[in-house]
Amino acid sequence: MKTAVIGYPYIGQNREWKRITEAFWKEQLSLECYEQEMKNLRLAQLHQQQNLGLDVLTVGDFTYYDRMLDLAIMFNMIPSRYDRLSLKHQLTAYFAMARGAENVVACEMTKWFNTNYHYIVPEYEGQQLTLQHNVYAQYIQEAIEAFGMTPRVTIIGPFTFYKLTKGVGQEQKQHYIQQLVKVYKELLQSLEASGATSIQLEEPSLTKDLTSEDIALVQHFYHQILKGLTVESICTTYFEALSNYETMINLPVDGFGLDFVHGKNENLAALKKFGFPKDKVLYAGIINGRDIWRAELQKQLALVAEIRSYVPFSPIHLQTSCSLQHVPVTTAGENGIVPELLNALAFANEKITELQMIKGKILQQEVLHIQAFLDSEKAIRTLALHESRKKKAVHAQVNALTPEAFKRTDNYGKRSKLQRAFLQLPDYPTTTIGSFPQSAQVKKNRRLWRKGEITTTEYEAFNANETARWITIQEQLGLDVLVHGEFERTDMVEFFGEKLNGFAFTTNGWVVSYGSRCVKPPIIYGDVEWIEPMTVKEVSAAQSLTEKPVKGMLTGPVTILNWSFVRNDLARSEVAYQIGLALREEVRALENAGINIIQVDEPALKEGLPIRKSLHKAYIDASVNAFKLATSGVRETTQIHTHMCYCEFNDFIDVIESLDADVISIETSRSHGELIKVLKETPYKLGIGLGVYDIHSPRIPTVEEMAAIIEKGKKVIAKEQFWINPDCGLKTRTEQETIASLKNMVAAKERLKQL
Ligand code: GLN
Ligand code: ZN
Repeated sequence: MKTAVIGYPYIGQNREWKRITEAFWKEQLSLECYEQEMKNLRLAQLHQQQNLGLDVLTVGDFTYYDRMLDLAIMFNMIPSRYDRLSLKHQLTAYFAMARGAENVVACEMTKWFNTNYHYIVPEYEGQQLTLQHNVYAQYIQEAIEAFGMTPRVTIIGPFTFYKLTKGVGQEQKQHYIQQLVKVYKELLQSLEASGATSIQLEEPSLTKDLTSEDIALVQHFYHQILKGLTVESICTTYFEALSNYETMINLPVDGFGLDFVHGKNENLAALKKFGFPKDKVLYAGIINGRDIWRAELQKQLALVAEIRSYVPFSPIHLQTSCSLQHVPVTTAGENGIVPELLNALAFANEKITELQMIKGKILQQEVLHIQAFLDSEKAIRTLALHESRKKKAVHAQVNALTPEAFKRTDNYGKRSKLQRAFLQLPDYPTTTIGSFPQSAQVKKNRRLWRKGEITTTEYEAFNANETARWITIQEQLGLDVLVHGEFERTDMVEFFGEKLNGFAFTTNGWVVSYGSRCVKPPIIYGDVEWIEPMTVKEVSAAQSLTEKPVKGMLTGPVTILNWSFVRNDLARSEVAYQIGLALREEVRALENAGINIIQVDEPALKEGLPIRKSLHKAYIDASVNAFKLATSGVRETTQIHTHMCYCEFNDFIDVIESLDADVISIETSRSHGELIKVLKETPYKLGIGLGVYDIHSPRIPTVEEMAAIIEKGKKVIAKEQFWINPDCGLKTRTEQETIASLKNMVAAKERLKQL
């Protein structure tokens, strides 16, 4: 019995990866230094895993930006628009696809299954693919040199890569499949030639609902790419149970990885019913790679025993349920958390230790572990009994909810007329999504305040001044609905969590969100409760400076839920309602302070969608209700906005509509206008602002390109409903970029008016 992880957090305990990467982007590091630093990081991470006792070390979980992009580049699958790039070094095209460059837009980015990680979407344009180079060969060599042992290589498998590629038309399908077979084969052969002994092909797409065409395709891929290969091949699934188990389990691989955390019941039932092939090895994912809670070790031991009872003949190895990139590195050094909570936490390193403990117990090395098992149980029990989880009033309020709590009094048709008269907005109103640049000074101000080097009054005065400055800028730009700029917020969830009961914060619990952007998800460990106004001061101050309406800005209940680590003793829907009720108080407070437009952001609503369709309805119902709970307690003249981004929304319009928000601002620029096609077929009934430019790229969009998007949008959205805005908040942009882009955006709108 051996232990392994599917992947380890590459960003490092102190986000070293981010610092090195950004220094390279800013040209503060030479390519050589950058490569050396990245290598040091890779090796340090492997060392850590070895020290923690893992039997197998894994490479290929490391990336310079994104693992899907790694493969696309290795396969030379570079869209032709990048031909114009002047290549500075071998990573020019790679980072251009990731982030955009000169006059070339970046590739689309979207959420990785139901996580908050975003990958770069491969684009296929019908070209011939070849294996250009193989970065893993270097990783294998490095590991052999440093550890004297050959690591396992983990790569995203062909079926998942295929399913996540965009732009493959019906006529290209066969060609693309052929090409993928060819390059995967080349890659696997090249890995074998570089000394690889074990290759893991990650296939999370195998946990989705599969069609018979999908099944045939998976079989085709695996039969073709593994032909003639002698190294161990493992097909690993995660985030849900393997679909069509009885067929898929017979793929010609040497081992299969199954998730016994998120797909537990279904995978167990399948093992029981169909058995497990005698000639394969089972890689059992038994430690949750996505939550931060200590595992109930006895339960997991019983789980392994149950698995063993259905799999009597094959070797079973233990691993995490998915890559640990979704959790922070370690709880060590987290001294700001109440001990009852801290003791109940397990991040990546602690999870590896749990794996080792379970293995140790099974292999009868129990003397070593008896005390540790007892400590773990006690920690979990203590948190379960903690006072933060026993707020009677909160539970009573959730239990007493009636259908009225989820509904506005009038329908949109009536409301929108009242709002138009009341708010006096022009046609095609322009606005932004909420945040303005978090400049070096804004960040420095916060740092000084956190360190106690400036007073709260000084800290707030700086931010207020920043808001005042941006109110002037927005007025000069000619925007119609203004925002205060969110300078007091680092993170849209953390900010609210810090002001509500029931949340805790780590000092170093970072996880990667996309590229070098990391987030530090709060921990919802107790009952959520509103204490006092959280945003009224800043928003009212901004409103007092202008005649134009200032939009209040809140993060929605589902996003708060999905971007936090959530307690596992309550149904998620119940936690969502607790948050919904707390936000309802805040919405009311804003309204009472004279704020007539309130935006409740739900960028994460779709990403929480379960992988299986059969589970969608329950999730959607609870999510929509939580949002409505937060937003439906307002006067009819108060306009509720929401915002969503970086997801494929094409099949989600009806859900968005059911939120009954007066206006949604939504990303459309990076998906290159696909949403517009959908809106043509199913017209949207409420207010909608199509994001007219991609804020994740530093390039300044031209008036022409935005005017073109607006023109297209105009064909599918009625004048009364049409808003114009960027596709997300501007906090990551510079002031110069922001002003130049918004100036062009307003000019694009002016052009529209002249037509
Ligand atoms: N209001 C937030 C902002 O502007 C929204 C961010 C988001 O959608 N992720 O930053
Ligand atoms: Zn956004």
